[in-house]
Amino acid sequence: MKFILLAALLALLWLWRGSRHGVHGAASRHGPDGAASRHRAPAPPRLQMMVRCADCGVHLPRSDALPGPGGRLYCCAEHRQRGER
Ligand SMILES: [Zn+2]
Repeated sequence: MKFILLAALLALLWLWRGSRHGVHGAASRHGPDGAASRHRAPAPPRLQMMVRCADCGVHLPRSDALPGPGGRLYCCAEHRQRGER
């Protein structure tokens, strides 16, 4: 009987310490991670302007678009040539 009580006490102690460690670890992990992710997030490149190909109508980033005649934008050289005709 004594042994069972001792085992139960040890188990409780182990669980209590384990849960305390878990809470503590999560709390200390939260702070630096949140600040780091806020610093890491490259917001401006993600908000790149999207333009539409004047030939096929596909949307693509402004930096990937090919400028054509009359200020129109195309997704590829083939479509630009088609638009010039
Ligand atoms: Zn196109």
